Amino acid sequence: MTAASSSASRETIDVLLVGSGIMSASLAAMLKGLEPRLSIRVVEITPELSREASDGWNNAGTGHAGLCEISYTPAREADGSVKIGRALAIFEQFEHSKQFWAHALTSGMAGEPGGFIHAVPHICFVQSPADVDFLQARQAALREHHFFRSMQITADPATIQAWAPLVMEGRGPVPVAATRVDGGTEVNFGLLARRLLGWLRSQEGCDVATGCRVTDLRQEAGEWRVAVTHLASGERLVHRARFVFVGAGGGSLPLLQSTGLPEVAGLGGFPIGGQWLVCDDPALAARHEAKVYGPVPPSSPSLGAPHLDIRRLDGRRQLLFGPFGSWTTRFLKQTGRWTDLPRSLRPGNLTTLLRAAVHNRPLVQYLVEQALQSMESRMGALRQFYPLARTADWRLVEAGIRVQTIKKADRGAVYFGTEVFSAPDKSLAALLGASPGASVAVNIAYETIKTCLPHLLATAEGRARMQRMIPTYDEDLKLPVNAGLFDRTSRAAEETLGLAPVPS
Ligand SMILES: Cc1cc2nc3c(=O)[nH]c(=O)nc-3n(C[C@H](O)[C@H](O)[C@H](O)COP(=O)(O)OP(=O)(O)OC[C@H]3O[C@@H](n4cnc5c(N)ncnc54)[C@H](O)[C@@H]3O)c2cc1C
Repeated sequence: MTAASSSASRETIDVLLVGSGIMSASLAAMLKGLEPRLSIRVVEITPELSREASDGWNNAGTGHAGLCEISYTPAREADGSVKIGRALAIFEQFEHSKQFWAHALTSGMAGEPGGFIHAVPHICFVQSPADVDFLQARQAALREHHFFRSMQITADPATIQAWAPLVMEGRGPVPVAATRVDGGTEVNFGLLARRLLGWLRSQEGCDVATGCRVTDLRQEAGEWRVAVTHLASGERLVHRARFVFVGAGGGSLPLLQSTGLPEVAGLGGFPIGGQWLVCDDPALAARHEAKVYGPVPPSSPSLGAPHLDIRRLDGRRQLLFGPFGSWTTRFLKQTGRWTDLPRSLRPGNLTTLLRAAVHNRPLVQYLVEQALQSMESRMGALRQFYPLARTADWRLVEAGIRVQTIKKADRGAVYFGTEVFSAPDKSLAALLGASPGASVAVNIAYETIKTCLPHLLATAEGRARMQRMIPTYDEDLKLPVNAGLFDRTSRAAEETLGLAPVPS
């Protein structure tokens, strides 16, 4: 940015966050709760807040806690056992989310109760002898742990029909099985992010700017110069910040590339669009009170686990099925351009991306097949879950875009996880990847603070404030000795959030 066309802000703020999605909103609210004297600025490109991946139909709203996602418990080991470590870790991270959101409600950070989170049973449904066998081993392994004590399993079609009638009606006599946890959740992450940022705006020393694109991040004299263009007026301004969080979702990679940090050189991004089938018929929606997840088809990557869900947005009950993948070169749904992917190519990441394409042929093939799908072939996938589904009841809706991160060191592996990137001097952090995504935003905020701003947790006062926000932040709830603590804190958070489990 040239000095002639821009002006520089005089004061240096403590924290600048790019983007108003659930990641920036969670980190900004947590930081202000931890240290009320911090000056914090959020800069968002769209005119409204939190309208990208975190909002509405752009995601499925599943509170990912390992209750129904088979991909968190990989295939059986040689001895027949099922590894549950990842499911336990994600469950605990989601507990942190629930605790923080409960604090956000009681402290006024998240506005009035209700609206952003609902209890909904999480069901895992399988329909082949091998999958039935795996589900039984999975449930047996999970049930051993206090997190998953309430997980029920059945291979009785009548019981599954009672749990999820649409899934069983019209189904032939094939082996089926399902697990069910009544205490699953559905979350409107966009609404929650807007409420947290609304609170932040009201705090001294904080502001949230919309309609402003961050174009460049440069480190100079121990602080970050953040170039921002106000889209309506064209005015350009350079903000100065001690710490920057790049929570720009799909827009994060280009901003990281602008930093010139050598660690960014090999990073590449590969966008994958998402689509849902949506049913607006209230009579059908009234008959499905669950999120029903299936196994990941062997041909598709982990983002492809299909699920049939009740979705409650803007006071309406609708059904959602998907996701279907779609081909795109844009990194953002609202403000992305078709040039996003080509413009992200650099000599340092081109070979990484090409190698990723070669190493991940099933992914490339999956995307091509998904992009060429007709409505009827999508309905065919839906009928695996809901055999009597009628095409006339369903419409196709564009979901959000995931930009999968590809790293040089990984020899072309595509990552589906969520990862915090931090600059070597810890003055900048960014979020890469997408899944389990929004559900673990609170844990990502905490990890970012622990890694990059540890002085905020170094005092007794700081730790006490963190404990008020996340009562078990420094405990390992996975340990058997902490089963009682888990029960107490989980029940307290659920009561505050109004999450009475839906009984079977
Ligand atoms: C199809 C699909 C289904 C999903 N389902 C689930 C689910 O069921 N459960 C779950 O937990 N997660 C789910 N996720 C993942 C989840 O949606 C994301 O992980 C999460 O919303 C990411 O939040 P974020 O704040 O990082 O990004 P976003 O919500 O995308 O926010 C980034 C913000 O940055 C802004 N921005 C971008 N560039 C700039 C710039 N240069 N200047 C200023 N602002 C900028 C954008 O406009 C946007 O508002 C799903 C994702 C997809 C795509």
